[in-house]
Amino acid sequence: MTTLSAVRYLIEVDAERCTGCGLCAAFCPVEVFALDITALGAAPQGAPPTIVAAEACWGCETCAGQCPTGALRVIAGGAGAPAGAAGGAPAGASDHGAMQQDKAAPLPADRVALFADWATTLKDVLQLRWEPVAISLIPVGEALPDVPVPDERLRYCQSLMAARRGVSLMMPAARHACPDGTSILGLTEMPPKLASGELYLLFRKLHSIEAARRMVHERPCLPPRSIEATVVTPLAQAACEPHVVAVFVQPEQAMWLLMSSSYYTGHRHDLHASGYNAQCVETTLLPYQSGKINVSFGCYGCRAASDIGDDLMFVGIPTALMPEVVRGLVELGSKAIPQSRAKIYLPPMR
Ligand code: SF4
Ligand code: SF4
Repeated sequence: MTTLSAVRYLIEVDAERCTGCGLCAAFCPVEVFALDITALGAAPQGAPPTIVAAEACWGCETCAGQCPTGALRVIAGGAGAPAGAAGGAPAGASDHGAMQQDKAAPLPADRVALFADWATTLKDVLQLRWEPVAISLIPVGEALPDVPVPDERLRYCQSLMAARRGVSLMMPAARHACPDGTSILGLTEMPPKLASGELYLLFRKLHSIEAARRMVHERPCLPPRSIEATVVTPLAQAACEPHVVAVFVQPEQAMWLLMSSSYYTGHRHDLHASGYNAQCVETTLLPYQSGKINVSFGCYGCRAASDIGDDLMFVGIPTALMPEVVRGLVELGSKAIPQSRAKIYLPPMR
């Protein structure tokens, strides 16, 4: 049985530097602050925001990232630590997101060996720099694999980036830091400011509230509280059956993956990319729900929250497609890939 406490955050506002602009309150997706935001963008008001619901803080750092004067810090207090505003009384000790669940049996050795073989083929044939990542969305009520839970909250995209470097992470809602991705993946309810599209306008990611609403409406989303935890591991060290395999690639490598999945059928791909919610929607949820390979160029969030290179893009492959993709890749790797990389059609240079 696993028992998990929520992570608490201390929100520290430097009253000397704070101009009372209200941006932190406006951008916080879960109403941690109380501040009159009708003067948003106007001249400095002088009064720092009041922290009224520190226990609701996700540690997403959006407030700190938007503060124009660097007056605000979000300090992780660790699992179970008391939450509160600097200099104020500790907030309520709500334990939202706590997890109590049985442990799953280890993955059978033949499955571990198969996933390790897939990882080796992907890396060798494509010459990948990063580990392919096994993604599992564990439904509520299912036993949980034996995978480390981080002490602090992370964004889902950050967990994927860590897994590509060889780190295994299991994150229930209480360890997710991105209100957007967490609700899209079915671990929580969607905060109203995100569901309405309002926050995307503030970020100036979309032109109008109508466009923001449309983006939210067209975006897939799992039912709230249907998923207990996300699990990401290097594919070669999978601890449970993956639903999707994520691969971190340059465009040429993405091309070969698309060709591998068409190798036996000749089908073209109907890809879904938008630049919004790249890792949660485009790399994970679309392949998970559609059973089709998908490509993502990344999004503002994952690029701002990780060290991912500008030259990298992302491919999500449903596990059911992996045997075909791996076989197709081996075939292409026997002739087409080395010939293309040798630039055999390049005219002679003078
Ligand atoms: S870290 Fe995120 S959830 Fe916490 S107060 Fe700042 S914006 Fe709100
Ligand atoms: S965003 Fe920064 S300056 Fe503006 S009210 Fe919040 S803490 Fe103060």
